[in-house]
Amino acid sequence: MTEPPIVILGIRPGLHIRGLDRGETPTADYLCGRCGAHKRVTGRTDVAEFTASNPAADHADRCPA
Ligand SMILES: [Zn+2]
Repeated sequence: MTEPPIVILGIRPGLHIRGLDRGETPTADYLCGRCGAHKRVTGRTDVAEFTASNPAADHADRCPA
């Protein structure tokens, strides 16, 4: 199964979490509004760690824009 190209439309800059309902796989997306960098993590543990790490501040240190 191939994944379609990532479409940025509809994803606003910042951290977005979805799939938290029971039985779903949580997904967290971080999109930088300056350089367009996008990072996605999936899985309840990874999402919890990712959000706890404050990805916005973490990325700001490395943002090339
Ligand atoms: Zn950036």
